[in-house]
Amino acid sequence: MSLYDLYQRVNGRAVSREEAMEAISGNLCRCTGYRPILEAACAMHRYPRLAVPAVPAIRHTSNGRDQLDTHYALPTSLRQLLPLRARYPQAQLMAGGTDAGLQVTQQHQRFPQVIDLTRVQELLRIEDYPQHLTIGAAVNLHDAFAALAEKRPSIAHFAGRFAGRPMRQSGTLGGNIANGSPVGDSMPLLMALGAQVVLTAWRKGRMVSRHVALEDVYLGYKRTALVSDEVLCWIVVPHPLPGEWLGNYKVSKRVEDDISAVCLALQLHIDKGVVQSVRIGAGGVAATPVRAFKTESALLDQPWNEATVIQAQKVLEKEFSPISDMRASADYRRLVLRNLLRRAWLQQQGRACVQLEDLS
Ligand SMILES: Cc1cc2nc3c(=O)[nH]c(=O)nc-3n(C[C@H](O)[C@H](O)[C@H](O)COP(=O)(O)OP(=O)(O)OC[C@H]3O[C@@H](n4cnc5c(N)ncnc54)[C@H](O)[C@@H]3O)c2cc1C
Repeated sequence: MSLYDLYQRVNGRAVSREEAMEAISGNLCRCTGYRPILEAACAMHRYPRLAVPAVPAIRHTSNGRDQLDTHYALPTSLRQLLPLRARYPQAQLMAGGTDAGLQVTQQHQRFPQVIDLTRVQELLRIEDYPQHLTIGAAVNLHDAFAALAEKRPSIAHFAGRFAGRPMRQSGTLGGNIANGSPVGDSMPLLMALGAQVVLTAWRKGRMVSRHVALEDVYLGYKRTALVSDEVLCWIVVPHPLPGEWLGNYKVSKRVEDDISAVCLALQLHIDKGVVQSVRIGAGGVAATPVRAFKTESALLDQPWNEATVIQAQKVLEKEFSPISDMRASADYRRLVLRNLLRRAWLQQQGRACVQLEDLS
């Protein structure tokens, strides 16, 4: 939530200093400007409210086909969005803009045409079905994680490690997945949970959808299985089955507002001391977010004990070939990955583990 959003939400009442601090959390200011910003936020209620001008969206032409109005479209339904996407496959899809915006501000790119996804009603819903949650791709990260945490409370802690609150309220779950960064944080978790995405297009006058397992979405560095007329519309996340154990870890240089060096998520079902099912998602160790299939095989149907975990750690350490970059060296990433599996084992045994946050 930005200060502007806070201002709209409180509807004229005074904002507390704590509310203002949360609204700007994650902003790194080196100019000591926090005090006047907070004071201004606390004084906002004394000033008249400003109306935000409506944005022109789509021009309806006489032949009934929607067109991009010069360079920007703001569709409000899939029935508007998908035919536009089919007609303008080169247009930049934009959700929260927290990744795509960097191409403009840091790489000085210009997008000649933009299709804004943030008002498409069908993409803004979270639906709870008997077997699964369906999260619209344009749901912001804050709301998406809150819905996931209702089913799996441990996710709430992990969600707090994703960027800062303003980013979580601007960035979307669909944007994180579609952007396909190898260090994107939601994907290892969603892979461990068995999530699928629904990719939808407008073909021959009708809507066509396909379900794709998340691990099959990534073809290479920032290359996805989406074809040019497709939009990622929903993320389908199965509900937990009885006995699920979930471990989800993010290691980054800073606790708040930092991208992962390594991420590991592990979903386990153990019955009578034997691993009945296991899914492991990892980030920061390959060109894409990945599922650790070999390590899963080393654990599946094995007794859940220290010897099995040590064996699986060896497999996990060799399963991927991470790169060295400014966040971490390849060796560090391999070591952290294998140690995170040990951490999961210790935690699953009820042993207390030091958290990164405890050290800050
Ligand atoms: C300060 C800061 C901190 C950050 N911290 C983290 C972090 O801790 N962890 C992390 O994982 N990321 C982090 N990010 C990255 C970013 O916030 C997330 O990846 C976010 O989820 C992107 O969502 P968005 O809606 O802003 O995507 P956008 O920037 O709008 O879009 C990203 C890409 O996905 C495409 N796209 C978006 N939606 C769809 C769709 N429905 N169908 C098809 N294509 C689509 C766009 O065309 C674009 O190419 C951070 C970014 C910043 C600036």
